Amino acid sequence: MENVLDVQNLSIEFPTETGVVRAVKNVSFQIKKGESLGIVGESGSGKSTVAFGLFNSVPDPGRISSGSVRFLDGRNFLKVNTEERRRFYWEHISMVFQASQNTLNPLLRIRRQVDDIAEAHQFNKKKLRQKAQSLFEMMYLDTDRVMNAYPHELSGGMKQRVSIGLALLLDPEIVVLDEPTTALDVISQGSVLKILNGIRKELNISLLFITHDISVISEVVDSVMVMYAGQVIERGPVNQVMSSPTHPYTLGLIRSIPPLVGDVKNTKGISGSAVQLDLLPKGCPFYSRCDMRMTKCSEIPPPWVTLDNNVSVACHLAKNEGGDKNDRTQEHF
Ligand code: SF4
Ligand code: MG
Repeated sequence: MENVLDVQNLSIEFPTETGVVRAVKNVSFQIKKGESLGIVGESGSGKSTVAFGLFNSVPDPGRISSGSVRFLDGRNFLKVNTEERRRFYWEHISMVFQASQNTLNPLLRIRRQVDDIAEAHQFNKKKLRQKAQSLFEMMYLDTDRVMNAYPHELSGGMKQRVSIGLALLLDPEIVVLDEPTTALDVISQGSVLKILNGIRKELNISLLFITHDISVISEVVDSVMVMYAGQVIERGPVNQVMSSPTHPYTLGLIRSIPPLVGDVKNTKGISGSAVQLDLLPKGCPFYSRCDMRMTKCSEIPPPWVTLDNNVSVACHLAKNEGGDKNDRTQEHF
């Protein structure tokens, strides 16, 4: 199956007072048609910066220092001109943010916002309004009310569903969602996730779902990529990563999910605070916070190892050096 998105060796740098930091380091991934990938990590792990990189819109003073972002037709999005990029956005790739206020114009009724998209992309307004209505119906929204509403007349969950509907309006191959449920209460969160699951099946669309909360994605994504300090440290099928996390950081993320039943006191966070990118050791980026660190971890970067459950991980413990991973097939990623 063809890749809808093929990201190779994406690196993004930011100059700081103490020198240049690499907020994203050699990130590569592919997404196939209809496939859904999650990127998980704490705040500052570089996951949103990856999203900015995909759109070639890294905020100043950051810059993409290397890599390529190719879409279905093989074009490198990082090399297209502004006009092409403007057309590409919405028609091939679109984005839903955490705070949908960022995408919805507070001064315009939703209907007008649909018209604006039609105008900017030279689509027939009437047809696009009909399309918006059917998408809003799929999102369980009262379409007449929503089309005539200003954003402030809608609840947070409704606005988020409208944003998802608008992101789908021009039939993009892929939708990037950056923390789309983070600002919502649990009920709205559940309904947005359910809707996302429904539309990805019904429209066979690809999703890239970025979140700090590993617990929300398991039902929506097929595979997951865990990021720490701008680097991918574990990736694989979501059920495998969730049920038997290998990297100590992934394990920590999963252990810090509060249980639905039982005592919240048993929830265990990851010790230490988020990493300072300018103070990374030569070896494993997680070294300073890892309960299982060994001397070599600070000096030698862990190689990629692919385990027999299709999970790949960058941790010295995943190598054939004792411990319970001995029996697993290994090959470099
Ligand atoms: Fe911990 Fe070492 Fe694995 Fe890094 S390589 S996660 S420090 S055990
Ligand atoms: Mg973010």
